[in-house]
Amino acid sequence: MTGLEHLRADFPVLRREIGGKPVHFLDSAASSQKPVSVLEAMDEFYRCCYANVHRGAYTLSVESTDRYEAARTRVASFINAPDPDQVVFVRGATSALNLIAHGWGGTHLRAGDRILLTEMEHHANLVPWQMVAARTGARLDFIPLTPEYRLDLEVFEDKLDDDVAVVGVTGMSNVLGTIPPIPRIAEAAKGVGALVVVDGAQLVPHQPVDVQSLGADFLVFSAHKMLGPTGIGALWGRPERLEEMEPYEGGGEMIADVQLHSSTWAAIPHRFEAGTPPIVEAVGFAAAIDYLEKVGMDQIAAHDADLTGYALDRLAQVPQLSVYGPAGVEGRGGVISFTLADVHPHDLATILDQHGVSVRAGHHCAKPLMRHLCVPATARASFYLYNTRADVDALVAALGTASDLFGVG
Ligand code: PMP
Repeated sequence: MTGLEHLRADFPVLRREIGGKPVHFLDSAASSQKPVSVLEAMDEFYRCCYANVHRGAYTLSVESTDRYEAARTRVASFINAPDPDQVVFVRGATSALNLIAHGWGGTHLRAGDRILLTEMEHHANLVPWQMVAARTGARLDFIPLTPEYRLDLEVFEDKLDDDVAVVGVTGMSNVLGTIPPIPRIAEAAKGVGALVVVDGAQLVPHQPVDVQSLGADFLVFSAHKMLGPTGIGALWGRPERLEEMEPYEGGGEMIADVQLHSSTWAAIPHRFEAGTPPIVEAVGFAAAIDYLEKVGMDQIAAHDADLTGYALDRLAQVPQLSVYGPAGVEGRGGVISFTLADVHPHDLATILDQHGVSVRAGHHCAKPLMRHLCVPATARASFYLYNTRADVDALVAALGTASDLFGVG
């Protein structure tokens, strides 16, 4: 990517040294680093115009409300949503998926309905559906993976029938990097009248996403994985589906009227935003989107693909290293899970850290997928716009040192 050195200078944490070595941050799939513009936007907002939103007639509150609602418009335009009111601010992808499962699923699912998920879902797009299935009598079913770590679309199409009420699928696996063909899946699911829920936590930060061509009913994502702060994310929904959804949390700001024994709801999206929302976080979220769009989402996707291809080639040379995920960059993002011989991934990650290389180790909140892969855990490197080939080289060099240390190879 052109101007990469210049861009890296926007991320103060990348100047850190760890154990006297420059930091090679390869854990953006867990959470990304933040550019100065996001930090400054939040700081400036706290200093100049902070007040609670939607409550006051005074200037600060009006300004604060305007900035909060402008952030909603910014998020909507980022995913090409036709109307900002189709965007609900939530705590993150997890709370969005809980809202959909309980708020839509809790009132629409019936005994015998099927909720069709994939074997590679993050727990956030699995556990809420398990909870609502237990309450409603709906059953869970799963789209399996092919030996190439892609979704088996033939089995998916075989499983689709009129009992399938929900199809829930990740936009990009946080373990394998697999990117399923969402428009094709959504079209088939629509054919049987199923609700299509896309967990965009990994996809939206890395590729241009247009909800008008995606085919989904709901798309969810978290700001902290796309240069923004923690504590905020977005749920986009088709207006008719949002209308069908019951609020999951009750409280201030989400009501039209309250009587002692009953209440009526505010208009969408406010009925889903009970209590004081993440106001400053929304300002940071908008600044993060400004940054991403300044760089260009196509550029970011191309950069991810370049690094992923380079890393896959280099990692293939490391003796006894197993990589879990599609072999090429086609239909796959910049997330690479691996194990080294029988070295425990936590031990491996600890050694890599001693070389300044930050990778995640564990089950990555995808325990059923770990069982499918027949491993308790993996180490995982993930890339974003600020990573370089030097980061990949540092990873490969540190893996070499770890191999020597553990007597591998
Ligand atoms: N889905 C996927 C695919 C994820 O990678 C994550 C974060 N690891 C989540 C959902 C949950 O996101 P959050 O923790 O921000 O709610």
